[in-house]
Amino acid sequence: MIKANVLIIGGGISGLSIAYSLARRDVEDIIIVEKSYLGAGSTGRCASGIRASFTSEEHVVLMKHSIELWREYSREELGRYGLYYDQGGYIWIASRDETAEMFEKLVKLHNSLGVPTRIIDLDELKERVPPIRINGIVSVMFDPTAGKSHPFDTLFAFYRALKSRGVRIETRTKVKRILTRSERIVGVETSKGVIEANTVVVAAGSGSRDLLKPLGVELPIKNMPRHVMLTEAYRPAFKPLVIDWDTPGVPYIVQTKGGGFFIGRDIDEEPELSLYSQRIDFMAKAVKPLVRFFPWLRNTRILRYWMGYYITTPDHHPIYGPVKNYENLYIATGYSGHGYMMGPITGEIIAEWIVNGRPHLPQAEKLVLERFEKGKLIKELAVVG
Ligand SMILES: Cc1cc2nc3c(=O)[nH]c(=O)nc-3n(C[C@H](O)[C@H](O)[C@H](O)COP(=O)(O)OP(=O)(O)OC[C@H]3O[C@@H](n4cnc5c(N)ncnc54)[C@H](O)[C@@H]3O)c2cc1C
Repeated sequence: MIKANVLIIGGGISGLSIAYSLARRDVEDIIIVEKSYLGAGSTGRCASGIRASFTSEEHVVLMKHSIELWREYSREELGRYGLYYDQGGYIWIASRDETAEMFEKLVKLHNSLGVPTRIIDLDELKERVPPIRINGIVSVMFDPTAGKSHPFDTLFAFYRALKSRGVRIETRTKVKRILTRSERIVGVETSKGVIEANTVVVAAGSGSRDLLKPLGVELPIKNMPRHVMLTEAYRPAFKPLVIDWDTPGVPYIVQTKGGGFFIGRDIDEEPELSLYSQRIDFMAKAVKPLVRFFPWLRNTRILRYWMGYYITTPDHHPIYGPVKNYENLYIATGYSGHGYMMGPITGEIIAEWIVNGRPHLPQAEKLVLERFEKGKLIKELAVVG
């Protein structure tokens, strides 16, 4: 029989980061159980974007702290293993006067919470994004603290750091059931046998809802299919991630360190659709609106295209923390498309909950599952990569 102190279900950024934050607090005997390979869920399919320019205080504050951790991690142990934070900023483009007014209000909110977004003029936009066509742009919001970090480098860095700290990582091991004895979790039954544990964390992305349902814990999440593609490589053209706020589906483009551009846009989809239902029409739908700003995209070639899930909650904020009725069970999921950037702060928050009984950020405490029962939903408008 295998035994662990803390068992984490899910080998995506959330699971790895939680294990890392626990290990840094000298918590021993941690095990991560992953049904496939590390990053097989949404993490390996994400578009690498990281920003604090959201529209809710909760997201802005959590992401401000997460970016501080991305920076710190890239300079320390994880940086030596390949994690980096490329702080190129985010550029938000408005084509409508109402959006321009909203940007002004958002800048005030961000600045009041310590995030230095600002409105920039079209000359500065051209300096930051030289190949952009500016016709029809009425306002631009710039988030200078935002950036990107490639998920494969990040996963690998976490893997190496965790291994060096003695964390056990069991891949190709599916958790079939969480085992309980009255109000305690006693372990999990996996495809390779039972593992006993003192504490269990569910960070299983699209698998979280089905794991918790038999325990009477209903997660109000939908697994929403989302698409993204990667173009052929170009010389370095611009550093920021550029978002066209006023086109439905909010198309975005960002250049990777390999030179290709990630391009994404939300298109109409049904929740729970299989990730084998690729949509060939996505490519034209995502590229066309961006051709207005980047005419050269008309002739670009697509190297890769894929789908993944946004694990989406009714208020587009994650579900964090302990689970009512169980004294040693924690959740971290439901990021609604922002869980990669939140990875470092997710690790800290869940580790603090386990080790200290509560997180140091009061905003995190508002994100517990009970908020849905109590109708205390939080509003977020800026749901993009
Ligand atoms: C197209 C696309 C673009 C995105 N772009 C961005 C972006 O730019 N920035 C950003 O911040 N976020 C982005 N996201 C969202 C981001 O990818 C996710 O929010 C984040 O990766 C969630 O990480 P996670 O560790 O919680 O979940 P996951 O990465 O999904 O990890 C969960 C893991 O649990 C495993 N698992 C599930 N069930 C079980 C079980 N029963 N037993 C064992 N293991 C199990 C899965 O195999 C999986 O590996 C994007 C997502 C998509 C799809």
